[in-house]
Amino acid sequence: MEKNTEFQTLIEQQLIYTVYQPIVSLQSGEIYGYEALTRAPGTSRFTSPVDLFQFAEEQGELYKLEKLAREKAIQGAKVNADQLLFINISSHVLHDPQFVPGKTLDVLSRHGLQPHNVVFEITERSSIEDFTLAKQILEHYRKQGYRIAIDDAGAGYSSLQAIAELQPDFIKIDRSLIENIHKNKMKEYILETFVTFAQKMNISLVAEGIEHMEELIQLTRMGIHYAQGYLLGKPSIKKGVIDARYMNAIGQNQRLQSGGAICSIGNLAAPVKVFDHKTLISEVADYAKKNQDCTGVVITNGMVPVGLLMRDQLFQHLAGQYAYSLFSNRTVDLIMDASPLIVDEGMAVEQVSQMATARSNHNLYDLVIITSEGKLLGTASVRAILECITNIRMESARIANPLTGLPGNQQIQRELGKRIMDRKPFHVVYADLDYFKWFNDRFGFQRGDQLIQYTADILQQAIAACGTPRDFVGHVGGDDFIAISSSLQPELLCQEMIRRFEQGVQVFYEGEEWDFVRDRSGAEVPSDGVTLSLSLVVCRCDSAITVEQISQTAAGLKKQAKAHHGSVYFMTYLHESV
Ligand code: C2E
Ligand code: MG
Ligand code: MG
Repeated sequence: MEKNTEFQTLIEQQLIYTVYQPIVSLQSGEIYGYEALTRAPGTSRFTSPVDLFQFAEEQGELYKLEKLAREKAIQGAKVNADQLLFINISSHVLHDPQFVPGKTLDVLSRHGLQPHNVVFEITERSSIEDFTLAKQILEHYRKQGYRIAIDDAGAGYSSLQAIAELQPDFIKIDRSLIENIHKNKMKEYILETFVTFAQKMNISLVAEGIEHMEELIQLTRMGIHYAQGYLLGKPSIKKGVIDARYMNAIGQNQRLQSGGAICSIGNLAAPVKVFDHKTLISEVADYAKKNQDCTGVVITNGMVPVGLLMRDQLFQHLAGQYAYSLFSNRTVDLIMDASPLIVDEGMAVEQVSQMATARSNHNLYDLVIITSEGKLLGTASVRAILECITNIRMESARIANPLTGLPGNQQIQRELGKRIMDRKPFHVVYADLDYFKWFNDRFGFQRGDQLIQYTADILQQAIAACGTPRDFVGHVGGDDFIAISSSLQPELLCQEMIRRFEQGVQVFYEGEEWDFVRDRSGAEVPSDGVTLSLSLVVCRCDSAITVEQISQTAAGLKKQAKAHHGSVYFMTYLHESV
């Protein structure tokens, strides 16, 4: 059949159908919605929807195809009333007078849906020529409750202009930027700017094309809101179910973000017996027989680990009647596990635990191989990893601040010490409230506690928006907090803290207003309420600085900040005097 005839048949007989891919909330681990993706029947020559839509465009038949695809998407959708249906549209279709006519409303309501359940994903493969017009059209649909996403952000097309002009509700980040995000610093920084700016613009981010657990964990840590990809669910005609392992991973990450101490897996590395990959199996078996407490050995090629052989697996191979003679003279690479879990020493124990426990049952308890710059450092057993996590949790609960749950002094000292040892630049923000005593006297302790909690929240939010995943917020006590960050723009971080504080603090005054408050000595001070003073100490850390130096420097800044009315930050650099 000629291509065009086939295309016409697809349309006339309505042969195309829709598959749905789940979009998962990285806050709750639940399904937030589905993206509808169009498919031609298996026998069709249009194997990819990209071909199909491109062909339709070339033939001037795009409107027809898009309309049918939209209707099919809604008809087949199995979304609940609180879930969203993401429907792809190409930017051309906006000019179609038939686009979302009243009839769509009927189709929607027949399927128990309303416009607010629908998000239109606009692809920019073919660029939008007239933004003013596009914006007008989209505004029209927005008023009816539909929402807008810019699709494939970060891909080759210039989606930044579309984002700026159309101010979407969602940005879908293209797979090209998500793939290997855990290994690629450049991608991480680009994504960080998306996170910051999305937060400022009140836009939600959806990461596309997640295939690996490590990517999922990294994205969760970075504060991306939603995720989609084969790992979480392939496009299907059925309703998606998210594997409990991933929901768990997402949940654990959230807990980790809320102040838990981070311990690196490198600390758990225990020595392990190593064999070269060309060692005879009989030699490994002899060793294992003589060393009853050897649970497994690592196989290397040079310094690089290339496999793992667990004791049980070794003896299973050698168990059969003829197996020993069959295998014993062959080399160990034949029977080793050639894709064991290998992690870098710097990875957080919690993260490794998620990856280890996500393995399938038959190798769930295999040793985890730890490397340092690609070379073997040692191994950790799953038992050691889980014990370590239990200890961290118990320790954190014991020394966290009981009001805010944030790490307390002990953890703060430890974190500062660690940063100094790392010898990488970082900065410390000391935050405290001005006139908190006055507030407490006037509104009572309970409200005071709420204001403290609020301050803890906004500091964490500012870090999430402008900081890096490894940043830290601690609660020194009372109305004193500390943030330790490696963000590249510390001043921006302080501005963000102040902005967020000022934005919400009014709520605590129950509509009251005044011209002055009282300082600690009871004297009147002109101010319209509690303000936030920040001291920013930027540590270059190219030399030995001490925790005392940092806190003394901060104390000096604090005096200046306090002498200044209103929320303010003061900053200084701390580095070795040469
Ligand atoms: P898209 O909107 O960016 O959709 C995501 C694509 O990524 C889908 O490909 C999906 O199957 C694929 N994908 C999802 N998770 C993963 C993953 O983990 N790894 C990899 N490698 N791929 C993943 P699909 O279904 O082939 O669709 C391709 C494109 O065709 C879509 O890209 C969209 O632009 C377009 N398209 C599909 N259906 C429609 C439609 O009804 N209308 C319009 N206008 N375009 C559509
Ligand atoms: Mg899409
Ligand atoms: Mg996309």
